[in-house]
Amino acid sequence: MKLKNILLASAMLLAPCAAMQAQQTQVIAHRGFWKTTGSAQNSIAALVKADSIHCYGSEFDVWLTTDGHLVVNHDDTFKGVTIQDATAAVSTAVRLDNGEQLPTLEQYLGKSRQLSTRLILELKPHRTPEQETRAVEGIVRLIKDFKLENRVEYISFSKHATQEFIRLAPKGTPVYYLNGDATPQELKEWGCAGPDYHFSVFQKHPEWIGQCHDLGMKVNAWTVNDAKDMQWLIDHKVDFITTNEPVLLQQILKGNK
Ligand code: MG
Repeated sequence: MKLKNILLASAMLLAPCAAMQAQQTQVIAHRGFWKTTGSAQNSIAALVKADSIHCYGSEFDVWLTTDGHLVVNHDDTFKGVTIQDATAAVSTAVRLDNGEQLPTLEQYLGKSRQLSTRLILELKPHRTPEQETRAVEGIVRLIKDFKLENRVEYISFSKHATQEFIRLAPKGTPVYYLNGDATPQELKEWGCAGPDYHFSVFQKHPEWIGQCHDLGMKVNAWTVNDAKDMQWLIDHKVDFITTNEPVLLQQILKGNK
């Protein structure tokens, strides 16, 4: 009986903490945690380092090669290689600034299996909707094969790719749209988890944050590197901030507790 009372009292004490934690803005490392020794944007090291500092998620960018493989990089043309016009062999022969070879999505997901940070997977807009559909099909299949379906969230600037993720990923997989030009109501109608917009869009439309929450959606803002902008978004209760400065954001959030 005594133990039962202790457990009940603990649950009552912890419940408000859980509620408060649920409201706390979460940190997403933009292209991984790359502004640190031995790292580089979209490298496997950046993913590992984002996980090591306990980011909620690590964002990275994906392209489809001409021979149907998926690789991880941000740039349309990186070190002279235009990825959507190149084979996987040519693309992955390129070295990142930390010496790693440009990773395939399979290599990225293989490493992710040993980590716990969430995967914020961005599909870059490709030249044709057909390429984007093939990329989405391939991504969804790989995520299933690697048993990472509960750890992935999809994002894209392309409306077509966003809607293809919603159509093809298992129901309930969070899919966010990046381009800033759809209202909360429109995103809800698409079946989006919410907007993932440049923070200036929310500063222009602060009412969208509450509207999203009222519609049962979440709000992510990119790419926020300045303490003042971070604080504005935290004060306006955005759910996620995507940043090149995850350590700074963590410090600010600690100060807000
Ligand atoms: Mg990106």
